Amino acid sequence: MRTVVSTWLRPGKVALQGALVSGQQGGSLLDVLVAGLAAAEDDPDLIAIGRGSLPNTDGELELDASIMRGDTLAAGAVCGVRGLLPCIQVARWVMEKTPHVMLCGDQARRFGIENGLKPQSLWTDELVRRWANFQENPERERAYVHSREDEPPHDTVTMLAHDAGEFVAASSTSGMPYKRPGRVGDSPIIGAGIYADNEAGCAGATGLGEELWKACASFSAVEHMRSGASAQEACEAVARQMRRRQPASRETICVVLALDKNGGFGAGVTTGTFDLWVAQGDAMTCHHFEQVQD
Ligand code: ASP
Repeated sequence: MRTVVSTWLRPGKVALQGALVSGQQGGSLLDVLVAGLAAAEDDPDLIAIGRGSLPNTDGELELDASIMRGDTLAAGAVCGVRGLLPCIQVARWVMEKTPHVMLCGDQARRFGIENGLKPQSLWTDELVRRWANFQENPERERAYVHSREDEPPHDTVTMLAHDAGEFVAASSTSGMPYKRPGRVGDSPIIGAGIYADNEAGCAGATGLGEELWKACASFSAVEHMRSGASAQEACEAVARQMRRRQPASRETICVVLALDKNGGFGAGVTTGTFDLWVAQGDAMTCHHFEQVQD
């Protein structure tokens, strides 16, 4: 049975619904994840990714995305892309149409336009309001972003898929809210934000990108599964090690999620709580994860 998972309560649901529609139309695992992330990127009501997501301190939306297939280990990624959707599609084109793994900034944008995407403004009325608030009082706006319970400041949708021994992982993000211009986190970095290998499973990450990157969190989870761990055991092992070695991961949430070869899914959380949407066949359920025990 096909399993597809997607991160965070609100954006994850939009992404998973988009993925299921693509699956019902016969989409491959790659198609399903690209469709899911494209749906979430396009949704103006989600501050997590794409249209309407929160900008950097220059007031620019700089988007990152990545995708990896577990059969060939082929991967594609883009970072710092402005004014273009869907970024995950551009990452897929990098994987499929170039000999490279990553394109950045203006040249990633140019590549997306060469392949048929139309440049567009990703600003929404809500974003104009939020940016005005940030300019007036950056600290107050940052505090507001981090205090909202209805829309936690998680700016990534990471999706994983497994079907009959095939694994694919993909991620799309606007990065940290009000980040330094040019900052790139873990999400478009193969091994940090995503990893897939049909011999072992696949994994992805969300949360504080600097820490997840230093931990090579996704690769590390896949290597635990290669050594025989289930998805849940692998994610917990990574989260525990991060808590032990990376004190910042005890202060700010870092999440690793994975799918294993036995059809299992799991997530490891360094602090706080995390919601993961899971579709098995056509049934969607939301699973709540708490901080890992040391
Ligand atoms: N991991 C993302 C980044 O650091 C942010 C997030 O997942 O909330 O860019």
